[in-house]
Amino acid sequence: KIRTRIAPSPTGFLHLGTARTALYSWAYARHHGGEFVLRIEDTDVARSTQDSVDQILASMHWLGLEYDEGPVYQMQRLDRYREVVDQMIASGHAYRCYTTPEELDAMKEAEYARVGKRRYDGTWRPEPGKVLPTPPAGVQPVIRFANPPDGVVTWDDLCKGPISIGNKEIDDLIIMRADGVPTYNFAVVVDDWDMAITHVFRGDEHVNNTPWQINIFNALGAPLPQFGHVPVILGDDGQKLSKRRGAVSVTAYEEAGYLPEAMLNYLARLGWSHGDDEIFSRDQMVSWFDGSHLSKSPAQWDAAKLAWVNAHYLKTIDESRLAALVADQLKRRGIDASVGDVQRRVPLFKDRCTTTVELADWLAMYFADVTPSAEDLAAHVTDAVKPAIAALADKLEATEWNKAAINAAIKETIAAHGLKMPQLAHAVRVKVCGRAQTPSIDAVLELFAKHFVIERLHRA
Ligand code: GLU
Repeated sequence: KIRTRIAPSPTGFLHLGTARTALYSWAYARHHGGEFVLRIEDTDVARSTQDSVDQILASMHWLGLEYDEGPVYQMQRLDRYREVVDQMIASGHAYRCYTTPEELDAMKEAEYARVGKRRYDGTWRPEPGKVLPTPPAGVQPVIRFANPPDGVVTWDDLCKGPISIGNKEIDDLIIMRADGVPTYNFAVVVDDWDMAITHVFRGDEHVNNTPWQINIFNALGAPLPQFGHVPVILGDDGQKLSKRRGAVSVTAYEEAGYLPEAMLNYLARLGWSHGDDEIFSRDQMVSWFDGSHLSKSPAQWDAAKLAWVNAHYLKTIDESRLAALVADQLKRRGIDASVGDVQRRVPLFKDRCTTTVELADWLAMYFADVTPSAEDLAAHVTDAVKPAIAALADKLEATEWNKAAINAAIKETIAAHGLKMPQLAHAVRVKVCGRAQTPSIDAVLELFAKHFVIERLHRA
């Protein structure tokens, strides 16, 4: 049975890169009728927070990446890691190392001078016929993995193709710290083994960890999963996408008014393709995602393309759902509006918007007062137009409240005052909507209650 997992460390929000590997892992499991597991890698106790766990779970939920098992927390599995470590010590695959951090620094310098590599020199590694130093009193040892001294670690990466690394390149890794907390490379293997994970998709910053992990799998007699190391995401500047260069968390995009289906669609294409298809549903992705067509090269984050994808979904998703999302956005600004009241105004604006935030920017004028800018007032509400505005306000009192009647009232007013349509329309927009550009003015006004329009027109 195919089993995949995502294993975020709860030291921040769900990163876009992690969301993408979660998506690939999820889609791969779903494609094969398998299972998808969520594991929280919280062994970095100093940096892990509950708040971060909550954010990650919320983002997974928002994206709709439902998992079949978990969340499993590594810090709740310390006994299991201890048990495996003890077995490995007994079988000679791991050993206690009493080298102190200060000694280790000096040792690495010496190794660098000797062989050109900063590495642990194997002082405490048991060898046949070797006499080990006497453990110093009062020092809690770390546990190191006895990495095979020779040979080559090879795997066929689902993204990158065949990769080989010589064991001479890697040293005896610490697998458990003195306080009994396992390190990433060890815990990840015990977990992937215990959870029967068959396919590991993760960011390619982990490629260099994989040889250790494969050696540990082998030492445990555990079956190897297949690995797919997904290339990094680069920002516009060609550097790795990072917090310093803009939004990198799923939460930030949710708050900025992006839709989960657009994020999924966009993230899927960032490092994977299905012919020329740019827009596809979750179900299509699941039916297409078989682990092939994964990109070997880094993906370029393209904010304009994401906006385009989002605009597409904004136009096509169910309007009552869209209205609920816009009502949420309005609520964040302290504006209460019912979903129904939002929904009947959405069609006029949604085609010109990219995000639900932009839609909320438009719709706010219907539910909260507007303050035109001094520039707009000076430019459009001129002395030449003011009498016409007052006349229009009076005329609208007696006008039936629909688009055609409003349009007729405006036309009569401009004719009576010798104005051109844009002169009056702009002035009305500024006074009623707080901005000079809007969709067709009669359609915009129709969606207000009549008395609001009249009040705003009369206001100085
Ligand atoms: N906790 C690791 C990370 O967040 C997981 C890597 C893996 O999937 O093995 O990068």
